[in-house]
Amino acid sequence: MSFYAGPVARLIEEFEKLPGIGHKTAQRLAFYVMSMSPERVDSLANAIRDAKEKIKHCSVCCNLTDVDPCGICSNQSRDPSVICVVEDPRDVVAMEKTREFKGLYHVLHGVISPMEGIGPDDIRIKELLERIKNGDVKEVILATNPNIEGEATAMYISKLLKPLGIKTTRIAHGIPVGGDLEYADEVTLAKALEGRREV
Ligand SMILES: [Zn+2]
Repeated sequence: MSFYAGPVARLIEEFEKLPGIGHKTAQRLAFYVMSMSPERVDSLANAIRDAKEKIKHCSVCCNLTDVDPCGICSNQSRDPSVICVVEDPRDVVAMEKTREFKGLYHVLHGVISPMEGIGPDDIRIKELLERIKNGDVKEVILATNPNIEGEATAMYISKLLKPLGIKTTRIAHGIPVGGDLEYADEVTLAKALEGRREV
C-alpha cells in the first residue's frame, strides 16, 4: 500500500522512470511540483509536450531538430564531404563545442550491442549508407565511444564502407589533456601509442 495519495504516488512513479532519478529524488521532485503555482506546472507540462511534439529526426543526419533538414545540415558553410558518425545527439553537442569540426554529422541513435539485442538494423546505419551512396562524401569519421560496443560498431561500419572506396577514419583515443602517463591504464596507453602522429 502506498503512503501517498494516488496522484502523488503516480507522479513519483513517473519521475522514478527517468534516468538517474532514484526514489528519494523522485519523491522530492513530486513534492516540489505540488508546491508550484498552477501556472508553473502548466508551463512545465507544456514544455515537455512541446519538445516531444516539435522535435523530430533530421531526414539527412538523424539528429534531433525542430526544422528539417537541421541547422547543421542546411548550413552552406559546412563541408558536406566529411561525415562524423556519432552514437547520440548529445555527442553532436560535444563535438560542436570543440568548434574544430566543420563537416556534417550522422547520428546512429545507439550502438550495436548483441547483449542488449541491438543489431545493425536497429540503429541508423542504413540511412548512413544511403546518404553516402547519394552524395559525394569523401571521408567518414567514426566517433563512436571507445568501449566494446562503440568499437564493434565502428568496425562494422568501416567494413561496409570499404567497398565503397571512402576514406574511413576513427577518432584517436588516449591520454586525456592534463593527464599523467604514470596513471594511465595499459589499454589507454596502448591506444595512445597506436594513435600517435607526427609532430
Ligand atoms: Zn541534419
